[in-house]
Amino acid sequence: MKTLPDWLTDNRDTAALANMLSPESSRPVEELAAESRAMTLRRFGRTMTLYAPLYLSNYCSSGCAYCGFASDRQTPRHRLEPDEIRRELAAMKKLGISDVLLLTGERTAAADFDYLQRSVAIAAEEMPRVAVEAFPMSISEYRALADCGCTGITIYQETYNREQYEELHRWGPKKDFIDRLETPERALDGGIKNVGLGVLLGLSNPVEDALCLYRHVRHLGRTWWRAGLSVSFPRMRPQTGGYEPPFPVNDHLLARIIFAFRIALPDTELVLSTRESATFRDGMAPLGITRMSVESKTTVGGYDETDKPGNKSDKGQFEISDDRTAREFCAALRHQNIVPVFKNWEPAYNGPSATIHHERDADRSASTITPETETCH
Ligand code: SF4
Repeated sequence: MKTLPDWLTDNRDTAALANMLSPESSRPVEELAAESRAMTLRRFGRTMTLYAPLYLSNYCSSGCAYCGFASDRQTPRHRLEPDEIRRELAAMKKLGISDVLLLTGERTAAADFDYLQRSVAIAAEEMPRVAVEAFPMSISEYRALADCGCTGITIYQETYNREQYEELHRWGPKKDFIDRLETPERALDGGIKNVGLGVLLGLSNPVEDALCLYRHVRHLGRTWWRAGLSVSFPRMRPQTGGYEPPFPVNDHLLARIIFAFRIALPDTELVLSTRESATFRDGMAPLGITRMSVESKTTVGGYDETDKPGNKSDKGQFEISDDRTAREFCAALRHQNIVPVFKNWEPAYNGPSATIHHERDADRSASTITPETETCH
């Protein structure tokens, strides 16, 4: 068995975070919320970057006990073909979305690296920001994805508790704990600029998992200090397979984790998805979260209304909770004086010519974007 890296148990600088995370903390949650809110305002202003997931495929070779797409689930399997991907992206653009996360299961013959690379290239023709949440890859594969326009990856460790990880990942390539742990480093070595980390809250002791997640971010930030690192806080949701989380995390503890991470990692993007309820997301929006998904579908495709009828019965990877439209969600953010942003980095990233290009794009597509969603850009 491969040995754990030293950074995973490095307790330097973790005492303050451990105190903030503990339900018996000397710091009341209201005090953490106020400090987190002030830090978020100072570092990020009143903005919220928005993205949407697009499931390319639900084929999978792994057997994660908590997932509706595990290879033993009786669920219809699909993958999007190039013309379907283009239709899905067009439908997403009509909603105002220009930041997409492409998802697949673990590597299979139906959805392998070549398929993913082709899909990224198609998406990069349509969207300025294209990230993937797929299987772990080699450095050369990540380099090839970056060359095709991939701007980031998301790779959750799910849990840093190795024994629990072994039990939950019943078979398949995802069973390799260390390989997954080292994936962000390979991605960054391959030229991927943004890496999202996270744990699936509920699988193991949430405070211990949060501390390991912090050590992981700190480890990557020391070596790849130019990388854009983000942290997500997904909680277990109902899914095909009916897995019940052994360590359920309530709203109070999740809020404490979010505030503690904002205070401990002031410049790191913190992400909250539509797994969470509208009420909880609205509550967290001004207090520490800086990036949210919107109008998510967890089925393969699902944005294009001419989708195959058979796909409508799909259950998806898990159930979402906040099912507001992009328009409704943007309105809720604005109600709190938070500006929803789908794309604000391109001029700084690509130079002034990108600004002109974007303005022309906006003119061209004005007839298909409603006034409410247009202001999301
Ligand atoms: S979590 Fe990912 S790797 Fe695991 S079964 Fe689901 S789709 Fe496959």
